Amino acid sequence: MAELKKDERFTWSGGKVLCESSITWGIAEQSNGLMAILLNVPGGVLTGKQLRVISEVVGEDGIVKNSRRMAPILFVAKEKVGNGLALLKEAGLKVACLHGSVRNIVSCPGKGFSKNSRGDTLELAQVLNKEFYGTILPWDFKIGISGCPRNCAGVQCHDVGLMAEPRGKFSLWIGGTESGFSPKHGVLVSKGIPKDKVPAVIRGILELYCEGAEELKNEQEQRVRLYGVLERTGIDRFKQIVTQVLAN
Ligand code: SF4
Repeated sequence: MAELKKDERFTWSGGKVLCESSITWGIAEQSNGLMAILLNVPGGVLTGKQLRVISEVVGEDGIVKNSRRMAPILFVAKEKVGNGLALLKEAGLKVACLHGSVRNIVSCPGKGFSKNSRGDTLELAQVLNKEFYGTILPWDFKIGISGCPRNCAGVQCHDVGLMAEPRGKFSLWIGGTESGFSPKHGVLVSKGIPKDKVPAVIRGILELYCEGAEELKNEQEQRVRLYGVLERTGIDRFKQIVTQVLAN
């Protein structure tokens, strides 16, 4: 099975992002000439201190746009990017992966915030972010987590969707996409996955995704998402890997 590799090393040259791997980092020039810095904020949670630093980076009249993926986008002048990145790092904030890796993880507020929640969705978003941030992948990989069947995070619209069940377990959907020309709902693959097994299950799925994308390399474009792999290679081996991980 394909071995997952990570790369968090990128530098800002003053004019562009330098990175040896295929990951595209979230620092990009906009059509208005300003630079956008996308932040890695799993579940969209920021501390008051981080908000103060963000405010310092954009300036009093600067703009922060919140994205659908809960990642704040800071708009700054190109000459301020270097200093801004240093301030963000000091506040414990990382730049989000834009392409070729796990995108900012979407999560509903979950336990402690929502009375309906059956699980700690924000905690799981943090755990998965720590495990998979900067993982080198064939293209984008989106994870969404909902705390109950009201499904505020739209789990079926992600490459991997997780919905909390009672007693610390999760249901798993794979192969969805919310965007693009042909949005799709993912397929329910398993129920009753214990929380502590979720990272290993996702690791297995990512490894199979990389392997499947490699097999398809000569057949179609390089930027294949998980649903593209599923359409060509079927879902059975993904179901098998989930069963295998859960049995260990
Ligand atoms: S999905 Fe459920 S737990 Fe999460 S915010 Fe919505 S209602 Fe609350």
